[in-house]
Amino acid sequence: MRNMPTFRGVDYLHLESLLNEQELLVRNTARDFVEKDVLPQIRECYRDGRFPHDLIRKMGDLGFYGANLEGYGCAGMSNVEYGLLMQELERGDSGVRSFCSVQGALVMYPILTYGSEEHKQRWLPALQKGEAIGCFGLTEPGFGSNPAGMTTTARQDGADWILNGEKTWITNGTLADVALVWARSPEGIRGFLVEKGTKGYSSSDIHGKMSMRASVTSSLVLSDCRLPASAMLPGAQGLKSPLSCLTQARYGIGWGVVGAAMECYETARHYSTVRKQFDNRPIASHQLVQEKLADMITELTKAQLLALHCGRLKDQGKLEPAHVSMLKRNNVRAALDIARTSRDLLGANGIMDEYPIMRHMCNLETVKTYEGTDHIHTLVLGERVTGVAAYK
Ligand SMILES: Cc1cc2nc3c(=O)[nH]c(=O)nc-3n(C[C@H](O)[C@H](O)[C@H](O)COP(=O)(O)OP(=O)(O)OC[C@H]3O[C@@H](n4cnc5c(N)ncnc54)[C@H](O)[C@@H]3O)c2cc1C
Repeated sequence: MRNMPTFRGVDYLHLESLLNEQELLVRNTARDFVEKDVLPQIRECYRDGRFPHDLIRKMGDLGFYGANLEGYGCAGMSNVEYGLLMQELERGDSGVRSFCSVQGALVMYPILTYGSEEHKQRWLPALQKGEAIGCFGLTEPGFGSNPAGMTTTARQDGADWILNGEKTWITNGTLADVALVWARSPEGIRGFLVEKGTKGYSSSDIHGKMSMRASVTSSLVLSDCRLPASAMLPGAQGLKSPLSCLTQARYGIGWGVVGAAMECYETARHYSTVRKQFDNRPIASHQLVQEKLADMITELTKAQLLALHCGRLKDQGKLEPAHVSMLKRNNVRAALDIARTSRDLLGANGIMDEYPIMRHMCNLETVKTYEGTDHIHTLVLGERVTGVAAYK
């Protein structure tokens, strides 16, 4: 980007004063990592449609995977520290944050919560270090917003399980050493750890994405895939188990998108002070431009406050899934609006990948859809305040 000053955060209401030393340390470590390791290469990765593989082990070394989990080598961060980490990673790119979210919230969390001791010993230390990669297979071609309808089956054959079905839109699918696959068994939905190379299990990448281009998205096929009895997560039973993982990941998204919004806003704010039109005056001198910046910083600050409050609630064990729905829905909406308005303020330059805005804007379209669409979270809020479910 042309002459952008060093990023120093966006903090209109001095929210930094609400963070303790440890929280600031985590944020600054993640910010330095993004400046040094993500931003210099992300434009090329996005252009080429490839994930920056060199980050995988680096993020492991820094303790980013499963960072808010305890034991098995995990960093044991508070949920606010973890949120700040997600914020900084997504300031780099939603694909980098997604990699980390999937690994921690959607693979390590369920193994820790629902897995056997053998599962935990086998996978958690390796996943934590980035020596192994995981993916989470819930969505199917026919069942996205309504995973309850899933048609992937698990039937018993002696002591073994036989899985059949297809999963799609799976982040890190082809990279994964282990896939957590959700399937319908005779006793309800169960989770299975499927290792790369298992006969009857294959994965392939989805091409042609105009969003999340620096992230791997795949389809998984299970064709008479035979697994030992020990592949099933013993503690996971029913749809509430995968949904509990999604709540963890959505919490991280609520913070992450604040990072994308900060990057877009700051780029547009700075641009408005240097771009000159009409009598050689900066476009920032026009009231219409100032109104946009005023609206953006207000919505960004509200999103920061919501994330921080939800983080404090989560650390007190008081954050409920319906709270997380408000966080995800509001903050993704705010971030998308900020990205679109920032794009507008850069005029033609706004469509160029020399600036990060269009990339963030395209990524945020995915973030609006995955982990529960905006509509679905609207219905969660509606049900919470009325007591009436309106999903069907
Ligand atoms: C890049 C990317 C990565 C992903 N990674 C993963 C992953 O790692 N693992 C995984 O399992 N999945 C993943 N997903 C899938 C994602 O979770 C689904 O796309 C999402 O749940 C929506 O499902 P769908 O795309 O089938 O849309 P649909 O469910 O078909 O929805 C289409 C539209 O209809 C609306 N709609 C549906 N039902 C209702 C209703 N009852 N009321 C109102 N509106 C409704 C939706 O809000 C949406 O606007 C990923 C998706 C993307 C794009």
